[in-house]
Amino acid sequence: MNYPDGLDTNIRFSKGVGPQRAKLFERVGIYTVGQLIDFFPSRYRFFGRVKKIADLKPHQDAVIIGRVESVQWQYGRRSRVIIDISDDSGWTTIRWFNSNYLSGKLKVGQWIKVAGRVSYSLDDTVFTNPKIQFLTSPEDDSDEINTQPVYPTIKGIYPRTVAYIVGRVLEDFEEYIEEWHSSELLRKNHLLNIREAYKLIHKPANHKQAEKARLRFAYDELFFMQLGILLSRRKRQITGKSVKLPCGDKIDTHIRRRFPFPLTDSQDKVIREIVSDMNSTRPMYRLLQGDVGAGKTVVALYAGLVAVANHYQVAIMAPTEILAQQHYQKLCKYLEGSRVKIALLVGGMKKSVRDEILREVSEGKIDILIGTHSLIQKDVKFSSLALVIIDEQHKFGVAQRSAIQSKGICPHYLVMTATPIPRSLALTIFGDLQVSTIDKLPPGRKPVKTKLYRQSQINEVWNFVKSKLKAGEQGFIVYPLLNPSDKLELKSAAEQAEYLAKNVFPEFRVELIHGQMKSETKRDIMRKFKEKQIDLLVATVVIEVGIDVPDATVLVIEHSERFGLSQLHQLRGRVGRSGQQGYCLLIADARNKIAKKRLSVFTKTTDGFKIAEEDLRIRGPGEFFGTAQHGLPELKVADLIDDYQLMLIARNDVQKILRDDPHLAKVEHKKLREQLIRRLGDKFKFIDAG
Ligand code: ADP
Ligand code: MG
Repeated sequence: MNYPDGLDTNIRFSKGVGPQRAKLFERVGIYTVGQLIDFFPSRYRFFGRVKKIADLKPHQDAVIIGRVESVQWQYGRRSRVIIDISDDSGWTTIRWFNSNYLSGKLKVGQWIKVAGRVSYSLDDTVFTNPKIQFLTSPEDDSDEINTQPVYPTIKGIYPRTVAYIVGRVLEDFEEYIEEWHSSELLRKNHLLNIREAYKLIHKPANHKQAEKARLRFAYDELFFMQLGILLSRRKRQITGKSVKLPCGDKIDTHIRRRFPFPLTDSQDKVIREIVSDMNSTRPMYRLLQGDVGAGKTVVALYAGLVAVANHYQVAIMAPTEILAQQHYQKLCKYLEGSRVKIALLVGGMKKSVRDEILREVSEGKIDILIGTHSLIQKDVKFSSLALVIIDEQHKFGVAQRSAIQSKGICPHYLVMTATPIPRSLALTIFGDLQVSTIDKLPPGRKPVKTKLYRQSQINEVWNFVKSKLKAGEQGFIVYPLLNPSDKLELKSAAEQAEYLAKNVFPEFRVELIHGQMKSETKRDIMRKFKEKQIDLLVATVVIEVGIDVPDATVLVIEHSERFGLSQLHQLRGRVGRSGQQGYCLLIADARNKIAKKRLSVFTKTTDGFKIAEEDLRIRGPGEFFGTAQHGLPELKVADLIDDYQLMLIARNDVQKILRDDPHLAKVEHKKLREQLIRRLGDKFKFIDAG
């Protein structure tokens, strides 16, 4: 049959589907034939090689071949058929329920192959409802049923039927599946061609074939991910020149004098990397990563002071105003008594004050300007901006860079993040972004003690919190939602703040803080909390990033299963920051097994890298990095961590192809280009413009 739309053919026009079933497929997002054949089994049942009847063992999967000796039908509300079959080793009984589909086919003398679980029951039946294949002779070795692919459930369609339909469609549309890689590339990497891969991913004969098929699809996922990354990177490659900002011994000594402690080896190491970057006209683009409390701020300030010592300006951008405020206060402390001029620019300032700051910035009188992202976008004009420090915590500012570049300046960039990314992975994913890691915490830090509780143990949790508050320490209680939701039965911060203040902690000062508050109100509450006029803050995730309150030691997170692990890790970093023992009490619904496992991983380690890996594995790269910003496709088959070597290979191959044909414009890359657009869609339209 001829299908003009090829793999884009609507599934309802393919045999075996029809409008009724098409609707069921559509519910899980499968509209086209292409999408249907991309619907892979989540696992397989392998029944293994054909066994003799005499060798069957109970509770094992097995395949046998035999001759039908007798057939006995029992009709009724549920039809049933019982047969005896024999091979040269013995005979046995098999039965099927709801077996109308076998009617007329099961005849004495017919050779059949059956696959299923051996179950020995009282009436000597060995198999119940096994899979069956009709053979032309006992030597017929076509093996249709030795494997059973297990597909993710689709409501309303029998798993068996799904397997059948996919098999059927694959057969019908095989000719429309066209290879996009060159045969050299496939050969070099020992990869199956795409048609073979499709066949084997849906119906492998054994584990080995299944893994081979998976490898091809995993390779492609990683290949196109890398292709997307490298193409988009090309687009935002920096072309300008930055100013050279050297740092001699004199400047170094001067800067170190600002800190009340010696820097750790870890800090020294990353400072060396940063200093060497800044001592070049090639713009620095460096990611500074380190766990919460690892001492990134100090490192960033060091970099800032190098620029200032060279008579250039620095912009520091934080994701929220609270954080900008906090950076400002910290820096003011470190810079007390120095000549460095530092200013804070946030919303809600008096116009006259704001105008004054802007004027001083444009005249070069302010050395370090701190604020949110609006710093570099609005009416702010620097006279000599040479370094931009972005405290993204866990988002990566890519868009910001182009914003500031369009102003005709080309500063050095330092991006800080507290969501550690496995180093090698970061290098691969961010390419032109260099990575520095602070891998050791400053001395004297105690890891936060973390424990998981059930909702029914909540009173135990509150009692613990009370004991800490009585000792003069402070705490946070975090909820996923601010207000009650109709759809989710969750406690919310607003409700709980009231309830806790009245019923649980009446003798303490409890306040609510959340993201939708005016920044002045938030600022005010944070100030009071720091000054210990508040004991307990009930919060939404606004406290997630960077807030520093030395005496906060207890953190309770309700419905903790609703948070990403990295997010929990960030939250946990809020307590025990001043050498006191910190506690993190997670409350979670014990019903969800996976959530429970994730959380228990979390309670057992405070290693941010391990947690990031786990999080990456669970949520996939898109969500982990923020899909909108990175356009990273979700990985279905590949695993960024387990398939890391494969990713390096794919990346290498992509680089080679792009070196030779930067816009994939050559005829031999037509298929590749089509596939890229098919997979990554509109996100990569611009390659046409290139
Ligand atoms: P981050 O920004 O990585 O979360 P900070 O730079 O805010 O971490 O540092 C966390 C705390 O550790 C701060 O209170 C800071 O004063 C302290 N600190 C940073 N570096 C050192 C060091 N080398 N020795 C001792 N304490 C340090
Ligand atoms: Mg910090």
